[in-house]
Amino acid sequence: MKRVMASNRRIVTGAIEAQLLREFAAAHRRLVLCDYDGTLVPLQPTPEQAGPDPELRPSLERLALVSDVVIVSGRPRATLERWFGQLPIALVAEHGAWIRERGRDWAAALSVSSDWKPKVRGLMELFVERLPGAMLEEKDFTLAWHYRRADPDLACRRAQDLLVSLVSLIETIDLRIVRGSKVIEVQPAGFDKGRATQRFLAGVYDFVLALGDDATDEDLFQILPATAWSIHVGSDQSHARFSIQNPDQARALLHALTTLNSNAEQHGATEPQPNPPSTPPPLPNC
Ligand SMILES: [Mg+2]
Repeated sequence: MKRVMASNRRIVTGAIEAQLLREFAAAHRRLVLCDYDGTLVPLQPTPEQAGPDPELRPSLERLALVSDVVIVSGRPRATLERWFGQLPIALVAEHGAWIRERGRDWAAALSVSSDWKPKVRGLMELFVERLPGAMLEEKDFTLAWHYRRADPDLACRRAQDLLVSLVSLIETIDLRIVRGSKVIEVQPAGFDKGRATQRFLAGVYDFVLALGDDATDEDLFQILPATAWSIHVGSDQSHARFSIQNPDQARALLHALTTLNSNAEQHGATEPQPNPPSTPPPLPNC
């Protein structure tokens, strides 16, 4: 059953954070699902400018000592591998098209044709020419038209025009149009962040935290169990139960999870125990 888009999400206050930390500390098996852009780092004018800062990797490594961690991103798998491949965490790339479980190799979530790409690429290239500052990004399964650097008013009009053109172009093809933050992406239907993370949720977790900031994260929020802590980063409408304002607060929350020992007295919490090794279910198509 789809969860209703929440207009009365609760801001994560000190009391709510304390409750979250208590549940985290009391849990036996913990899972943290986390988007990257706009969630762990601020959005930047171009994707290349939004690499991880020096503190992020050590922070995720500490978190992985006390929780299973999955970065669930729209980024290409090569980028996630370069940034986080050495960490003991799982990675989901291209909104769920590629999955790298902890300690394993990358695997495609499904096999699909790329026959659709030339048509969509041609249309998006046309709209790159029509909007100064726009750029095209091609991934294995996805084509993305970015417009963060463009004039906002003109970009808004061009984005609407592109959407209309895309809808008519792909009406006979099984594709999905995804509107992210200052980006329009086209990808084959059949995968999204929610489906990609279902395999992780199949593990026996008694604490689940998910963080994300844009439309693609809504697929994830909607498939979470009702007891999960879902937190939207930003002020947009969301299916998440809670919200926080920005990546700095998201990072501070994750940091707090790793320092529960020193905060135990303050939060009435006990030291989190390391997660026992897990064996996620195998990919359905391999
Ligand atoms: Mg994001």
